Amino acid sequence: MQKSVSDKGSGYNFRNNITIDWCPGCGDFGIVSAVTQALSAMKMDPQDVVAVSGIGCSGKTPHYLNIAGTHTLHGRAIPYAVGVKLANPNLNVLVMGGDGDLLSIGAGHFVGEGRRNSGVKVLLYNNSVYGLTKGQAAPTLPLGEKVKSLPRPNILGKINPITLAMASGYSFVARAFSSEIKQLSELIQRAIKHEGSAVIEVLQPCPTYNDVNTLDWYRQRVYKLEDDKSWDPVVNSKEEDEAKFDRGYRKSMEWGDHIPIGVFYENNTIPSYTKRLAGVIPDYLKYPPALQDVSDKDGYTIVDPIKTFSENDIEL
Ligand code: SF4
Repeated sequence: MQKSVSDKGSGYNFRNNITIDWCPGCGDFGIVSAVTQALSAMKMDPQDVVAVSGIGCSGKTPHYLNIAGTHTLHGRAIPYAVGVKLANPNLNVLVMGGDGDLLSIGAGHFVGEGRRNSGVKVLLYNNSVYGLTKGQAAPTLPLGEKVKSLPRPNILGKINPITLAMASGYSFVARAFSSEIKQLSELIQRAIKHEGSAVIEVLQPCPTYNDVNTLDWYRQRVYKLEDDKSWDPVVNSKEEDEAKFDRGYRKSMEWGDHIPIGVFYENNTIPSYTKRLAGVIPDYLKYPPALQDVSDKDGYTIVDPIKTFSENDIEL
């Protein structure tokens, strides 16, 4: 299904006169709106932001934004994004992937990035189905649930993206709802300001293939963690980590009639991977690979791999 959108606005939003390949009512529209609102609110130079996606309906997002972006391979958005971040740590790198992309074929990369904490921000679009390929059960569809695209109820159990992200070591973990655009925009801004890697799971309707987890279904259930004034997920010292991690982890398992959205866990004490690299590679942050000269004024390469290998005691 296609819908033509001609956006007369400027900034990061939909490129002018582009054909948007998302169905009417898809939660993806709300996510893009929140991303553009967040980048505009932060007055971010488009040259400082990169969007990286995998395969799926969500994978089209970088095509629709006025920022640099790459539509990569199935499940490979995170390692590609980490490569961008390590090549130039000054960039703000956003990963846009679906639950089917990041939690099935990309699950190993999802877990690995939690350990690394390189500073990429993962927006995990969760509609519980593989929308691009006609609505098969995605890893977040609960056991026994039957959406209209399935011939029989799902016979696999579901992954909880929040508990997986926390167990993997992500230092910022949150959940949002695609129709709560203001809150999602604020969460994206907070994640971008956070030094380490972040995961924001975004619950979203897929009106074409998921007739169970609909817009109204979510509207009747989501509630904001921040409405509880005693909720404080921010860890600023190692001493308070255990209790806050435990509280966020337990809260992340709440599902059904009441679904919490907001920040579950934010740990500001874990150094980012780029800072750890700077500790072993002199001048890494000053001259990261993307800022190093690779050619002379006439365009000839000045890179000498044999010298580089020998200087670093690497045998060829
Ligand atoms: Fe959105 Fe579902 Fe349509 Fe994909 S198939 S664009 S997820 S509504």
